[in-house]
Amino acid sequence: MDCIFCKIINQEIPAKIHYQDEHLVIIEDIAPKAPIHRLIVPKRHIATLNDLTPTEHELIGYMYTTAANMAKSLNVADDGYRLITNCNQNGGQTVFHIHMHFMAGRAFHWPPG
Ligand code: AMP
Ligand code: ZN
Repeated sequence: MDCIFCKIINQEIPAKIHYQDEHLVIIEDIAPKAPIHRLIVPKRHIATLNDLTPTEHELIGYMYTTAANMAKSLNVADDGYRLITNCNQNGGQTVFHIHMHFMAGRAFHWPPG
């Protein structure tokens, strides 16, 4: 499968991996848009949010609690941070394997551009 995140998960191409377990991997974004910009990527290939099924309910909850725990361990939980998942063209999705952007270290605008 021609999926860049599956290739990272399968160690076919390199990435800076901060954490991984049986469910997900956390990598450094290659083009960071904040002082801290990591991607929480499920190991299971799911192309977009539109492809989620009830099977993934627990996985999605796990991604959020992992993000919150990471915020605490990076000492940004109180200052705050942003979690983003883009979907398809209008959402700005460029890699079609779902992932959550974890961004911190500066204030973010609302609404986003
Ligand atoms: P999105 O545009 O929401 O699909 O997010 C894709 C993200 O993946 C972007 O922020 C890219 O900078 C990032 N990205 C693309 N290729 C790589 C890679 N090889 N390693 C790490 N991050 C990547
Ligand atoms: Zn994939």
